[in-house]
Amino acid sequence: MNPAASFSELKSTNPLLNRGALPAFDLIRPEHVEAGIRALLEDSRERIREIEQADAPTFQSVIEPLEELNHRLSRVWSPVGHLNGVMNNEALRGQYNACLPLLSDYGTDLSQNERLFKAFETVRASEAAALDPEQLAVVDHALIDFRLAGVALDGAKKERFKAVMLELSSLGAKFEENVLDSTNAFTFEVEAKEQLAGLNAMIIAQARERAEAAGKSGWLLGLDQPTYVAVVTDARSPDLRKAFYQAWSTRASDQGPLAGRFDNAAVMESILRLRHESAQLLGFPNYAAYALARRMARSVDEVLDFLRKIAAAARPAAERELEELTQFAGRKLDAWDVTYYSERLQEQRYSISQEELRPYFPLPRVLDGLFAVIQRLFGLSFRQRTDVAMWHPDARYYDVLATDASGQQTVIGGCFLDPYARPNKRSGAWMDDCVGRKQLSTGSALPVAYLVCNALPGAEGQPAQLTHDDVVTLFHEFGHGLHHLLTRVRYPSIAGINGVAWDAVELPSQFLENYAWQPEVLREIARHVQTGETLPEEKIAQLLRTRSFQAGLGTLRQIEFALFDFRLHAEYDPALGGRVLQILNEVRDEVSVIRPPEWNRMPNNFGHIFAGGYAAGYYSYKWAEVLSADAFSAFEEAGIYHADTARRFVDNILSRGGSRDALDAFVAFRGRPPDIAPLLRQHGIAT
Ligand SMILES: [Zn+2]
Repeated sequence: MNPAASFSELKSTNPLLNRGALPAFDLIRPEHVEAGIRALLEDSRERIREIEQADAPTFQSVIEPLEELNHRLSRVWSPVGHLNGVMNNEALRGQYNACLPLLSDYGTDLSQNERLFKAFETVRASEAAALDPEQLAVVDHALIDFRLAGVALDGAKKERFKAVMLELSSLGAKFEENVLDSTNAFTFEVEAKEQLAGLNAMIIAQARERAEAAGKSGWLLGLDQPTYVAVVTDARSPDLRKAFYQAWSTRASDQGPLAGRFDNAAVMESILRLRHESAQLLGFPNYAAYALARRMARSVDEVLDFLRKIAAAARPAAERELEELTQFAGRKLDAWDVTYYSERLQEQRYSISQEELRPYFPLPRVLDGLFAVIQRLFGLSFRQRTDVAMWHPDARYYDVLATDASGQQTVIGGCFLDPYARPNKRSGAWMDDCVGRKQLSTGSALPVAYLVCNALPGAEGQPAQLTHDDVVTLFHEFGHGLHHLLTRVRYPSIAGINGVAWDAVELPSQFLENYAWQPEVLREIARHVQTGETLPEEKIAQLLRTRSFQAGLGTLRQIEFALFDFRLHAEYDPALGGRVLQILNEVRDEVSVIRPPEWNRMPNNFGHIFAGGYAAGYYSYKWAEVLSADAFSAFEEAGIYHADTARRFVDNILSRGGSRDALDAFVAFRGRPPDIAPLLRQHGIAT
């Protein structure tokens, strides 16, 4: 067997490793991936070995080179991750998956590297006075990451910490598996078609196909999410809705149709116990306090107070909404009726549907409108380029230009846009780094973003027509894009969205969403694809009212999840165990107006907190909404395109990346800490 080719050998022949300003999407092939990444990681490891030898470590000799190495790695890996998401195929997936453990090992070794940790400590101690605030932030971020990875622990504690982390990752996977298996194990047979009344034709056709494949007459429904959502939203039969609600809300538990078969109760207990132990090993009183070490929220009490304040403010509105819904239904509602009647009430009240709005939102017009908003706010223009290598004909590339006082335009970065759904493209919408900004002694790079959406493509020769939901999503992702593009930070580890407190990272994206809800913006972008007629004022008004529909109930639901998650991790006591159902019931007593049935086992399938990255972090959804609504209210007060406010927003927040504490940045912009009132007003639930 030939030894693997080295980095220096591959550098000129493997297009993945050829780092021009943009990835060579026309040349990169699956077979370049694993070989390229292996060679690159090998080279990076060798350089790290050199760096860590430094006798008298300095920012220049240790930290700058590491920034360069990390930038190089993410620059090379980014097109691979991107292609795996938007042009998935078997060959690429195999290569991609083969690289995951290599990258994960590399990351672990780096975060556990004691010599580097010591070098960072030395730099912090000996050079603090000479470093500028940005450089200090780079060092401090890295030191926190090292400590939270357990590198500072000694002997037995360190071994235990590693073992706990390993066990936690397999418990998270087990939790997922149980949820998935119990979801897949449930099917529901329907004999009489009347029982399916209300469901859309596509779901019914799928159910028929499924029955046929299983050699059955009638219809066979699964518990996949689209089917579940369709049933509880649209099925007229309360029995059908109840069956699905019950199956869904008891997945992986001791209740419901599959009681006990995939029960996650013991898995949850172990996860909570081990998380608590890991936090204590690192010197935190509990896991919630540990999670806050890298967040904008300062303390456990601050988060609890925050959630309770919003719950109290939303309660009267939620009670009114429930009363109205009960009146509308003409009877007391069961848990499986709420979504169904809400949908009917919304249809009746607003007589507006996302589908009927489509002809008013042709993509080219929407993009022009979005670019105009960004131009007016931040003075940026987008110039499409046709000479850039692409992965698919639908995708496009824009240079992003800033104009200075003398009218001179400079390219400050770029963005790819891939707007349409297609086979082998991951669903959802996202912004991702293609190239991060850097300005190092070893070289510079301008930021480049990927913006990916999944809008329905237009018919042959026709522009795509978006729903208003799609429009909001597009604005959201461009908000993330601006955060990436407007950064002025020199060091990649804290430039753009890197190093930004996790509970503050949705601020720019949700901020920009607000513009998709402004009548003056809608009048610009909502023009009929054939007639060019502006969306009638009456329809604009109806659309705007949908934004606050049942906002009280929606808020309390989010708070119920968030408070449950946070208390679970803040109050863990080894002597008492997780007390999952007890805490859930206390939270429901405290905040809920719609009481789910006793047999509801929401925690057993709450993947966000037990298997995803949201442990002691579910509150972040509301937290970031408060920040973005409050930031936007500064524009409402001054004018939504107010130049000075926009400039201060860029100077204090959008350009800062992780170089500044998120709360300090917010206070500098707003002149005070965040206030929940603007969000309550936006939801129409202000008291
Ligand atoms: Zn987002």
